[in-house]
Amino acid sequence: MIPNPSELSHLHGAVEALVNAADPAVARALDKALSGGEVSVDEAEALFGAQDAGLLALMATADALRRRVNGDVVTYVVNRNINFTNVCIKHCGFCAFSRDHREEEGYFLPLNEIVRRAAEAAELGATEVCVQAGLPPKMDGSLYVDLARAIKSALPDMHIHGFSPEEVLYGAVRSRCSVEEYLVALRDAGVGSLPGTSAEVLAQSVRDRIAPGRISAAQWREVITTAHRVGIPTTSTIMFGHVETDRERAEHLAFVRDVQKETGGITEFVPLSFVHAEAPMWSKRLVDGIRPGATGADVIRMHAIARVVLHGWIDNIQCSWVKEGPKLAQALLSAGCNDVGGTLINESISTSAGASYGQLVPPSELRRWVRDLGRVPAERDTLYRVRRTFEQEPSEPEALDLAAEQPERFGSYAELIRMPEYRYEGQRAPRLEGPTLPEALRARGER
Ligand code: SF4
Repeated sequence: MIPNPSELSHLHGAVEALVNAADPAVARALDKALSGGEVSVDEAEALFGAQDAGLLALMATADALRRRVNGDVVTYVVNRNINFTNVCIKHCGFCAFSRDHREEEGYFLPLNEIVRRAAEAAELGATEVCVQAGLPPKMDGSLYVDLARAIKSALPDMHIHGFSPEEVLYGAVRSRCSVEEYLVALRDAGVGSLPGTSAEVLAQSVRDRIAPGRISAAQWREVITTAHRVGIPTTSTIMFGHVETDRERAEHLAFVRDVQKETGGITEFVPLSFVHAEAPMWSKRLVDGIRPGATGADVIRMHAIARVVLHGWIDNIQCSWVKEGPKLAQALLSAGCNDVGGTLINESISTSAGASYGQLVPPSELRRWVRDLGRVPAERDTLYRVRRTFEQEPSEPEALDLAAEQPERFGSYAELIRMPEYRYEGQRAPRLEGPTLPEALRARGER
């Protein structure tokens, strides 16, 4: 799937012509990246000013670098999100998912429902569950370890991609142990990788404005590098399009690149657009100078610059259909991205913030976006090992394609926050037993 050298030289000529037509500062940075040089923070900042011919040159450069590394293959993972509680002690200004523990809309799934969701995902072909949630008050410190153990003992082959740096830090604090000790306990309980979320923008001044009291940039780095040291890989992210400057974005990319140089433990980088509609810092105007998310051109710049700056260090740049929508996500595959993320099945966090792209995308639809660009879809696992390459579409629909025709069977966030069966009642951990979602819905005569 990697193009042969004559194809590359032909394409390289076309990219060079575009670069030569760009603004000199943009052209210099792109030329450097194409020649194998490392783009500096100053140069990355200049790239955020790319417009017109410069923007086309940026996209073409990112696409050329993507082709060198990933060839024509575009990957996805079959996974399910399990956001087991929305009750949280923090009040991040961008978060519309969380509820205060006194609010009626707080929920906490019982343990048997959490495990049932993972088992159902496995039956539908998922290889990963992504487990993240709010931080409930007075939580049992061992909660995350216990959850991982329960999922792993029921489903030994399931990859647990779980617990953000914020959650790891909270678990360690509640357990009165070090971050390293907590991470070792998570690893030994079966956590296979950590989401590199709770990064937003890794500039403390930005964090203090949009989410005071959130894990600091230094603590984020400590959790991530310690995870890598104890053998847990992580992803990496940026949330952009709110108050951050181009300089802060450029420094964020350099920060992530530095972590990768130190540890080599990052599997992918995922730019995540700020979804503004229901975010408290937008709807309540809590933060001066806040923007209503990124424009389409800015989304393209962010992904393309991520590819250019991280080239040589992080091979996988993911576009998020949840944040950008399917059509822009597909277009981003021609601006440096090589991965379309996961099927998700229960997307809640962006939906609650006002994103309108649904809670799942079935595998056949993810592949359709890829094929329409003339590229080759492949299913991967969490760690980017290819499981199946789809030169042709399968003759029969897969289990998740069929199940996706009835998304209501998976339950929605809007439904969950209204269900008395799952209401949070001040508990420090989930109840062990409770009605499963199908049982609860049947009892209410809804399904
Ligand atoms: S982003 Fe996470 S930590 Fe912040 S309020 Fe939402 S759930 Fe809580």
